[in-house]
Amino acid sequence: MANTWTGRQLIDGRWLDGGAMLENRNPAKIAEVIGTFPRGTADDAASAVLAARNAFPAWRRTSRIKRGELFIKLAELIRRDVAKLAETLSRESGKILDEARAEVIEGLHMVEYVCGTARQPTGECVDSEIAGKDLYVRRKPRGVVAVITPWNFPFAVPLWMLGPSLLEGNTCVFKPSEETPQIGELLTELFVEAGFPAGVVNLAQGLGEEVGDALARHEEVDVVCFTGSYDVGSHIRRVAAESDHKTCACEMGSKSAVIVCEDARLDLAVNAALLSAFKTTGQRCVSAGRILVHRKLLHQFEHDFIERVSALNFADPFTPGAFAGPLINQASVEKVLKYNDLAKQEKAHVLFDAGRLTVGGREAGNFVGPFVYRQEYGPNVRTIREEVFGPHLAIIPFETDEEAVTIYNDTRYGLSMAVITENYRRWRMFRDECDYGMGYVNLPCIGAEVHLPFGGVKKSGNGQPSAAALVDSVTHKISFTVNHDLEIKMAQGMTAGAQQK
Ligand code: NAD
Repeated sequence: MANTWTGRQLIDGRWLDGGAMLENRNPAKIAEVIGTFPRGTADDAASAVLAARNAFPAWRRTSRIKRGELFIKLAELIRRDVAKLAETLSRESGKILDEARAEVIEGLHMVEYVCGTARQPTGECVDSEIAGKDLYVRRKPRGVVAVITPWNFPFAVPLWMLGPSLLEGNTCVFKPSEETPQIGELLTELFVEAGFPAGVVNLAQGLGEEVGDALARHEEVDVVCFTGSYDVGSHIRRVAAESDHKTCACEMGSKSAVIVCEDARLDLAVNAALLSAFKTTGQRCVSAGRILVHRKLLHQFEHDFIERVSALNFADPFTPGAFAGPLINQASVEKVLKYNDLAKQEKAHVLFDAGRLTVGGREAGNFVGPFVYRQEYGPNVRTIREEVFGPHLAIIPFETDEEAVTIYNDTRYGLSMAVITENYRRWRMFRDECDYGMGYVNLPCIGAEVHLPFGGVKKSGNGQPSAAALVDSVTHKISFTVNHDLEIKMAQGMTAGAQQK
């Protein structure tokens, strides 16, 4: 594909181009420049925030139902463009076409969820201890929301954040990852086409440490919604804490796991492990970096699993039947290979090592195949604790359910957990004893749905889940008390008579 795309920023309803530009490359064919996009500056970020601030009062006063109706139009536009959006997403991120399409559908589901909630009750009417008073609880938008998103879900994750933020009456500045600027621009174009007023959604493009950092620091930003790596998320948390009013919702990395119990169905366990570890080339936040396997099943599991792993096709994302695509960039290739080496240094028993893939055109892209090893649990083993974010997988044997819980919890992360068992007492124990935000039984540890909270604990999240649950981060709750009596009566038995005629 020729260099056809020149990206723009959207500030206060005006598309802006020019200035310094960055290149956008296809990770499956790194020589291919997809296009160029603006290297936004701190000044651009400030203009976008100002536009959002100025648009806020009118947007907040617009009826929630009218705001929701714009999302109905947005849903129609996404449905119209599914194929184009999926293709762009695939080319830019390296995600295979089938998964890219599923991600666009997930984004659409979020928009449909927002349409559906627009007419739902938003507050509560509560009884007072004084019969003549009515108490109300309502939500108010916080103001300007900075939406800073990762490359690996460049369509769905922005919508998880933009959807609830805008419906509740906030205005937004959206900063896509510099790895996936084009799908970010296409999504913004759809907001404009759907009729969202100028300044309500702004698009700031560029580098995280420049434009992202400027957004996170800006005093007129009220909430930073961030999804990405732990290092950047913890930086954003510190920046937000320096301000008197700013809050943040941070979703970060993980070392998720599938736990294969003694009574597991082996075929189901192998399938769940395969999807958890290697879909999206192990580059989902919830990707399993660990499969904990009961020793009784270990030998057979390893045999069946490796047989399936060796048949996986990591290929150009547009190849029919491809299972997964390339890594996103050269830095990721180096990181994954470094962790593969580290596993060997840590005396792992290597079961499968596809290494750098260099045949069939893959030499032109960032292709690394699966690396699978058995590692005994131990206190100082780094590879079974640190996020690798690639097709790097430890199989860790265990003897008892209690030991599996200890191993599962022994990382600083806590995002996703799947348990494979036929025993209802067992899964309940894992449900309650493991640290995670998303749990599954007899499923892979990937596969979220938008009407559930999406978030984690420990280094994986700061307790402000995304998707449907984001409403709690982008609004604050107020109480409002109305007196229907002709005299004032106070709660808790306080006298009010002396002041009244
Ligand atoms: P990243 O942290 O490198 O970048 C995420 C975003 O932050 C990008 O838009 C980037 O430009 C911006 N950014 C970078 N430096 C910044 C700074 N100093 N200030 C402000 N913004 C800055 O992450 P990535 O490589 O795009 O995504 C991969 C990571 O995201 C993995 O760790 C993965 O686990 C995580 N992730 C988590 C979830 C979740 O919900 N928990 C979902 C998807 C991805």
